[in-house]
Amino acid sequence: MTQPILETRKLGMVYRGHRDVAALTDVSFTLHRGRALALVGESGSGKSTCAKILTRMVTATGGQILFDGKDVTRPGNRREVLAYRSQVQMVFQDPFAALNPAHDVRHHLSRPLALHKPELGRGEREDRAVELSMMVGLDPVETLGKYPHELSGGQRQRVNLARAMAVDPSVLIADEPTSMLDVSIRLTILDMFKPLKRDRGIAMLYITHDIATARYVAEETAVIYGGRIVEIGPTSAIIDAPRHPYTRLLLAAVPEIGRPFGATDASLVREADRVREISREPGRLSEVAPGHLVRECSASHI
Ligand code: ADP
Ligand code: MG
Repeated sequence: MTQPILETRKLGMVYRGHRDVAALTDVSFTLHRGRALALVGESGSGKSTCAKILTRMVTATGGQILFDGKDVTRPGNRREVLAYRSQVQMVFQDPFAALNPAHDVRHHLSRPLALHKPELGRGEREDRAVELSMMVGLDPVETLGKYPHELSGGQRQRVNLARAMAVDPSVLIADEPTSMLDVSIRLTILDMFKPLKRDRGIAMLYITHDIATARYVAEETAVIYGGRIVEIGPTSAIIDAPRHPYTRLLLAAVPEIGRPFGATDASLVREADRVREISREPGRLSEVAPGHLVRECSASHI
């Protein structure tokens, strides 16, 4: 495969405090142009911490980040940080909190341009705002003058995506982008990611607690629990032939995925607490098929 656009090597994060929290341990994965990796895990597993490190909202306490082959682990000077930020953009979970209620959509789409592409004139920024809103399926005439409270949740998330795309990033990180939206419109939002990958070569990290949607968005999937990746590989292998008990537990909780709810899955659910417990073990990641890695644990037979 070609050189990854973004790579993490044994990324670690310990939040220091009254009680230290090891939020991430030895997290390694790669993102490639035109492809998506789903990072799947339940609440508290370290997903957002990972997103925050990659977007430089917090600094990792261990490991490395490579962007386009270059070590960017330590924040450089202001110019470097700004350049990195324009390359790695984020779509947040809460579509309302991410938009400023005092500003219209036009402002939200033009501001990143003013910041990252100061060479553009006012007219060019307006053209770009029109283009961006159409890209996410919003009518510019109707939408550019509207304020966040005049938009539905789905429309707001489209604005957030357009804003992230405004500066032509090469990596998009979406942290549970549909979890606060109505179930009925979730797929229409996820659908917008496909052309971004296909036509613009965006590399994507799709963060979700819903393993069923991974198949819809991502070629590769990493399952994370307790800050450690327990299984990573092609999404089809993870969903159709899961190896780690925790991955199988997540899948057992998704009725619509069409897997028979067999005796093994039922016992997994019954033993959920024990599955979680063994999933915290720092076992070795071993390759069970090409590109499919599973963390060894004391009860792989569950
Ligand atoms: P997720 O996004 O998967 O729900 P997070 O990355 O938000 O997980 O959290 C992972 C762990 O780190 C949790 O135990 C959480 O309580 C802890 N955590 C997250 N942010 C902080 C912080 N700023 N300070 C201390 N602990 C934190
Ligand atoms: Mg989170």
